[in-house]
Amino acid sequence: MSERLLLADYTEKGERGPVIGNFHFWTSVASGFAVILGGQGRGGSDVLDDPCLGCRLANNRLEAHIVYETEAVTCLLDHAPLNEGHILILPKQHYADVDDLDESTAIEIMLTSAKLAKALKDIFRPDGITMIQNGGIFNDLTHYHMHIFPRYKEDGFAWQEPADSSNAAGRLAETGEMLREAIGLLR
Ligand SMILES: [Zn+2]
Repeated sequence: MSERLLLADYTEKGERGPVIGNFHFWTSVASGFAVILGGQGRGGSDVLDDPCLGCRLANNRLEAHIVYETEAVTCLLDHAPLNEGHILILPKQHYADVDDLDESTAIEIMLTSAKLAKALKDIFRPDGITMIQNGGIFNDLTHYHMHIFPRYKEDGFAWQEPADSSNAAGRLAETGEMLREAIGLLR
């Protein structure tokens, strides 16, 4: 399942051109970016000129509705909200995936999500809050971001579960053993 975050509405600030293209344009940019960075890491490049859309969004180089900001994270409205109040939390430094995050940034994201959840509850009185993040090819931004948005009964948002064709439910003991061993090998 791919994210709904389509990027056509974000416009660029400053001298770098008026309008960012459509989703496919950005897909190609993101692909090029991945190739550029392949095998050499980011190594302190100038984040403000970064081809990564998430880096520019998080560092105020694109027009966006920013609702909260700290030294480490920027929180802005998703331009195609699943429900009103749909916010993205982006680290200002580039991280692709949750296991790339440094510890203080990870903590900041979680503390910020709690703050945003309180505000969303105050304003919208939802039935609940959903937080979700997508990694790997399911991350359309290629820059780590957490979604947080208010939820309502029968709002149509679905966690669609695939059929258990590989019988994962029948192998919980083996799966648990495999994971305990792998986690035990992590530092
Ligand atoms: Zn980035």
